[in-house]
Amino acid sequence: MRVIGLTGGIASGKSTAARVLAELGAVVIDADQLARDVVRPGEPAHREIIATFGNGVLNEDGTINRAALGNIVFADPAARKRLEAITHPAIARQAEKTLAELRRQGTRLVVYMAPLLIEAGVTSRVDEIWVVYVDRETQVRRLMQRDGLSETDALQRIASQMPMEEKRELARVVIDNRGAEAEMARQIREIWERDILGGNRG
Ligand code: ATP
Repeated sequence: MRVIGLTGGIASGKSTAARVLAELGAVVIDADQLARDVVRPGEPAHREIIATFGNGVLNEDGTINRAALGNIVFADPAARKRLEAITHPAIARQAEKTLAELRRQGTRLVVYMAPLLIEAGVTSRVDEIWVVYVDRETQVRRLMQRDGLSETDALQRIASQMPMEEKRELARVVIDNRGAEAEMARQIREIWERDILGGNRG
């Protein structure tokens, strides 16, 4: 089984690229979805978050209020570390479980989509890294548009991640998403034919 780690910056187009890859036949694991799954009520990480941050981070229905938790950890690096010490191992266990199950089923190709694949140091989970790249200006514009953020807020979020130029250096495959969506899809189909169907790993 070949595991491709798909990453990039915030709003660089990972989900859009993953949709194209899924249409071509890849099985996609979304690390953000795993992150939501592991903090559901009843999960150990849910209990640990309440024990650490208190009931103030809960919604009325007992689920974690991600915005409230986000506000705490965004302003406080030590709190962020405490949260990550709870969630990262839980996500790792879930990812390993899902990958083992896919391997057992004889799956050939898996795309593990994770915004912080490199920052979180989980590149060992994947065989190779693909980066969806956009220039800063396009990234800011798309992020502002998608999330309704001011330019200052968009820039702040981008600044909290590893620069895209550095990520691009670590990639075996770079998907350029500065152009239209159809242009990105065309690149992905080309890479698919060369790399996946052709078996070329560069
Ligand atoms: P995040 O990690 O922040 O969730 P992402 O990397 O998965 O983001 P997407 O959600 O795929 O990024 O794309 C960000 C926004 O930009 C979305 O609103 C998407 O529709 C839009 N977008 C993606 N690619 C293009 C493109 N080539 N042209 C125009 N808009 C695009």
